[in-house]
Amino acid sequence: MSVRTRFAPSPTGLLHVGNARAALFNFLFARHHGGAFLLRIEDTDRARSTQHAVDVLLDGLAWMGLEWDEPTVYQSARQARHAEVAHALLAAGHAYRCYCTADELRAMREQATAEGRAPRYDGRWRDRDPSDAPAGAPFTIRLRAPQSGETVVHDLVQGEVRVANAELDDMIILRADGTPTYQHAVVVDDHDMAVSHVIRGDDHLTNSFRQAQIYAAMGWQRPEFAHLPLIHGPDGGKLSKRHGAQSVVEFRDQGILPEALCNYLLRLGWGHGDAEILSREEQIALFDLDGVGRSAARMDYVKLAQVNGVWLRRAGDARLTAEVTNALIARGTPVDETAAARILALMGGLKERAKSLLDLTDSAAFLAASVPLTFEPKAQALLSPENRMMLRDLAAELSPIEPFDAAAIDTALRRFADRVGLKLGQVAQPLRAAVTGSTMSPGIDATLAALGRDETLARIGAICNG
Ligand code: GLU
Repeated sequence: MSVRTRFAPSPTGLLHVGNARAALFNFLFARHHGGAFLLRIEDTDRARSTQHAVDVLLDGLAWMGLEWDEPTVYQSARQARHAEVAHALLAAGHAYRCYCTADELRAMREQATAEGRAPRYDGRWRDRDPSDAPAGAPFTIRLRAPQSGETVVHDLVQGEVRVANAELDDMIILRADGTPTYQHAVVVDDHDMAVSHVIRGDDHLTNSFRQAQIYAAMGWQRPEFAHLPLIHGPDGGKLSKRHGAQSVVEFRDQGILPEALCNYLLRLGWGHGDAEILSREEQIALFDLDGVGRSAARMDYVKLAQVNGVWLRRAGDARLTAEVTNALIARGTPVDETAAARILALMGGLKERAKSLLDLTDSAAFLAASVPLTFEPKAQALLSPENRMMLRDLAAELSPIEPFDAAAIDTALRRFADRVGLKLGQVAQPLRAAVTGSTMSPGIDATLAALGRDETLARIGAICNG
């Protein structure tokens, strides 16, 4: 059997980490087995499923690098097929028309609640003669579910789960307005898309019993099910706003790289020995469902930041420069070609310290600034009258260096420090303050080299003459 997985989100306006992880696992499982990964947008709730909500999903998947293999399936476009299958079940006697009114159903529910029973349909139209039906009255179509025996699902993560059929009532598969219910639409679509493995959050575990009954009634082969434990907050409670970011866009806005988020989400609930940092190729090579844990995972934002740091250091300088340039421009700082070249030149040093693209952007901003710089208080404090005098002498030392590169700058700084009887740090810190406006930057030699001779001298000059 060829492996075909699908991600089947309902467009809600965000791509939650739990869903993002389900998408990733479906993708990796399909790739690992040389199968296909499909996308189905479950947009039957037309009010919620705006184009914006759909775009959020598509953009999130694209950002995570999860490409799907066939044209996107929109569930709303398949309603005629859902109705066709419901009517086929009806014709085969596996489903029946129910003419209960909303009032009757409400009374049924209220009575069950009053008697301390779970509210469920009492099957009153199950065996009733269709000729009893009130002429022209609206009806729903309900599955004629088995009333004895058990429905058993061999879940690839949760193991064997079973329910007594007596516990499940005859669910509606087609509403009076002809639209399918979730359970029915999912089964028809998964069948028609030849999905071999349904991998999704374990909030859907009990749905698989209902869905199994529809497969059985149609005589269709059931896919394998794999229900993933949910992602909780760091304190074990339901992941919510108070814990931090929950959606893919929020993580992106916090400067998390997509490969870091994917790597982190993969490790959250899936393991392969001690392997922590895995490239996409390694993930595909190693991923399988037997590595998925059964207990709920806890989101660890600190760990995510560490993983992000690792991926930042692995990321190419040109790509990070493009990211930082765009971020600076979005903040209102113009970045011309010269500034972009400086950022690129220093990127190797900048990315060593960053935990996020936001840090990286902050630390690169001085390269796009122009004199006069603004100074952080700690930097300002270093620009004492004596240090300004020292910097003026230093400028004379630096000015003739040829080539103006890190090695030559380093030599010149050491020579200068020796000559004036200062430690290298006593020279480098005021110099750093003067040219960056802060007290932190990559090595001062590399920093000056990235700025270039003219800009370095202009920045020092602005301090000494200011
Ligand atoms: N559309 C459902 C959801 O977003 C998922 C359906 C499924 O995976 O079976 O929760």
